[in-house]
Amino acid sequence: MPNYVDLHMHTTASDGLYSPTELMHRVKEAGLRAVALTDHDTTNGIEEAAQTARALDVEFIPGIEINTDVSGGEVHVLGYFIEYQRPAFQSTIKALRDARERRGERMVELLNEEGIAIRWERVREIAQGSVGRPHIAQALMEAGYVQSVSEAFDKYIGNGKPAYVPRYKLTPGDAVRLIGSANGLPVIAHPISLPGLEILRTWLPDLKAAGLVGLETYYGQYTQKDEQALLAIAHQYDLIATGGTDFHGPGLHPTPLGGRYVPYKAVEQLKAVEAKRRGTMPPPFTLPTPVAEK
Ligand code: AMP
Ligand code: ZN
Ligand code: FE
Ligand code: FE
Repeated sequence: MPNYVDLHMHTTASDGLYSPTELMHRVKEAGLRAVALTDHDTTNGIEEAAQTARALDVEFIPGIEINTDVSGGEVHVLGYFIEYQRPAFQSTIKALRDARERRGERMVELLNEEGIAIRWERVREIAQGSVGRPHIAQALMEAGYVQSVSEAFDKYIGNGKPAYVPRYKLTPGDAVRLIGSANGLPVIAHPISLPGLEILRTWLPDLKAAGLVGLETYYGQYTQKDEQALLAIAHQYDLIATGGTDFHGPGLHPTPLGGRYVPYKAVEQLKAVEAKRRGTMPPPFTLPTPVAEK
């Protein structure tokens, strides 16, 4: 079966390698019919990507990915069909990006204390938009401290490693509500790799109550067994089984753009929920006051 759908990808607006226009051209070359852009904490790539997608006759869904830290891991929440122009939503994700800057600076400080001479200014230059650990990894590579991005995560900046600093303390439930406050459809990303099924199960009842609508089931290199496990959970909680590659650019994640079969039914199901929400007043959401950082 041809791969028509890919609902998880990043551009230079966050930590992808391609600009929104370039990415949509790659999407077209890959023969995709429907895609969603899901940059971290930013919608700045959406306008340009949507315009290019329209010109190339590709169905385009505006999206976002919000990463949260929980004890023992991370939960990433995707949001589809977000009404991203909403001012309250924009100011909240701006606050999340600002927190990313402070966190990035602190990670560089910790690296410096370990005797690793990389500069925050350089990390900032590498990141064209929303800054993330992949940009720090690139700075570490450039300076010759590691040979690859994954080595940077394994040695320094992965969860629990010496220069790791958690993100702004947003709970997965808050990420779901934040997306809901822009009439978006919240979906848990790559549940098996992060946070793992065990942690996922503890969060699901809460997240469902907060407005979760889907579970990323057809993801990257997930096996048939993974897929079956996720389909069973999606069925149990009445969640839409979505999917995508998490494409960031060649060589960054193992799955190429469109390299995972995702049924078009996922798009139809998302659209059916979206159609019911469009034009309705979403529930408001306010970021909790940040916990004092040490
Ligand atoms: P951040 O949101 O700044 O914490 O960065 C998270 C991003 O880092 C993810 O979206 C992945 O693209 C990337 N990432 C996380 N873990 C690894 C890893 N072990 N190797 C390579 N990239 C990773
Ligand atoms: Zn990323
Ligand atoms: Fe993710
Ligand atoms: Fe992602």
